[in-house]
Formats: sequence, structure tokens, C-alpha cells
Amino acid sequence: MIKIKDLKKKFGKNEALKGVTLELGEGKVIAIMGPNGSGKTTLLKCILGLVKADSGDIYVNDCHINGECEYRKNVGYMPQYSCFPENLKVKEVMAMIKDIRGNHCVYDEELLSSLKISEMNDKQIGTLSGGMKQRVSCAAAFLFGGSIIILDEPTAGLDPVSSELVKNKIAAEKEKGKLVIITSHIVSEVESLADSIIYMLDGRIYFEGTKESMYTQTGEADLNKALAVLIERNRSNEKG
Ligand code: ADP
Ligand code: MG
Repeated sequence: MIKIKDLKKKFGKNEALKGVTLELGEGKVIAIMGPNGSGKTTLLKCILGLVKADSGDIYVNDCHINGECEYRKNVGYMPQYSCFPENLKVKEVMAMIKDIRGNHCVYDEELLSSLKISEMNDKQIGTLSGGMKQRVSCAAAFLFGGSIIILDEPTAGLDPVSSELVKNKIAAEKEKGKLVIITSHIVSEVESLADSIIYMLDGRIYFEGTKESMYTQTGEADLNKALAVLIERNRSNEKG
């Protein structure tokens, strides 16, 4: 569904992506993990065409995305930090997103109702707490029923009830055959949700595969420990 070949991106002298090659298939939840600054958000933004890579190729459903924007109709996106206009009310933001996207589809309003977005309808974005903004942003990502859903740290600022609702939604969308890509620091969440894990470090893919293959490669049977082994190996490679 998504193929990425040797993707590179520099911000000034800072190499955020140092040659990333990946294939991501449908019917899966893929978790991108890695420390802050490892390039996760930059990679997602490249897939969305929000950041232009310096070199390399991205194909979505066999179409090169270079300069294309039609494929984005099929993609739902929740950014790590949403920046809706502060002076607009929640209902105005929702209307604006529908208008801008221009998708003439049946809206998937499940999260709108379970996350109780309508209770916030008349509040201005600027008056919402971080978690409330996250809920709006998350509901918007699923609203257009795209076959690719990209969620950048979706549950980071959510209360436990909302977080469970979102996790259940992710699992349900996967069952429908969608590709869901999430970034996350929360090991338990990744362990229960993700089929495959991509571990990024310093602009490179350090590990890519199923949880099971991570366990085999590290000799550990839980994700936290397996990740710790990977990180430690990386440190000793750097020293050596
Ligand atoms: P992550 O999401 O894994 O925390 P990011 O992709 O946000 O990492 O950032 C990767 C690197 O690229 C960091 O060093 C960050 O400072 C840099 N970076 C990201 N976006 C920009 C930008 N717009 N301008 C300058 N540097 C950026
Ligand atoms: Mg990020």
C-alpha cells in the first residue's frame, strides 16, 4: 500500500532521515517507535506530502506521490500537535475540515459521538485543554473513512477512557482491512495493538518486523525488554 525507497531529508545540516526504505501493507497496525528526534514525525509528514524529502521515492498504492495530492483524500491524519484556528468553535472547525477536504463520502462519526465532541461544539478551540484538542483531532482523522490512517502519538494526551475508545477504533479499522500507522512511546499500547514495529534511531530504521521477530532477535519475550536490548546494542555499536 505504501512503499518508501531510500528517503532522505535534511533540515539545514540536521539529517532527520538518512535513507529510509519501507513497505507498509494493508490490514495492519504498524507502530513507529523511537526516541524524540529520531525522525518519526518527519517520516509521516513526508508520506503526507507535508514535508518534501530531498531524495528518495514514496509510492502510495503504486502511485508516486511527487506533487500529487489526490491520494490524500484516502488518508486520515492526526498530527502530533494540532493547530486549529484558536478563535473558531469546535463545530466551525469540523465544518471547515469537511469543506476543505471536499470528500463526498459517508462520514464515519463513531469517534465524534463516543469522544463526545458535540458537547464541545460551542467552545472555542483556544479555550480547550490539550486532551480536548486531541479528541477533536482524533475524531477528525477517522471522519473521512480513508483506507490509510496516520496517527502521530494519538493517545499521548488523552484521558484513559478516550484512549481506550481510540485503541478500540484502531483495532476495528484494521479489521476492515485498513492500514493504520501510529507513533507511540507507550510500550503496552504498542504490544496490544501493533502487528509490526518499526524502531527508528537517528533518522534510520533500526528494526522492522513483527513483535515475534523482535523477541526472537533479542531473546526477550516482552516488548519493553526487547526494546531495551535493541537500544543497548545500538549504544555499544556506537562506542565500538
Ligand atoms: P520525532 O517525531 O521522532 O520526535 P521529528 O521527525 O520531529 O522526530 O524530528 C527529527 C529531527 O528533525 C529533529 O532533530 C528535529 O529537530 C528536526 N526537525 C523536524 N522538523 C523540523 C523543522 N521543520 N525544521 C527544522 N528541524 C526540524
Ligand atoms: Mg514526533
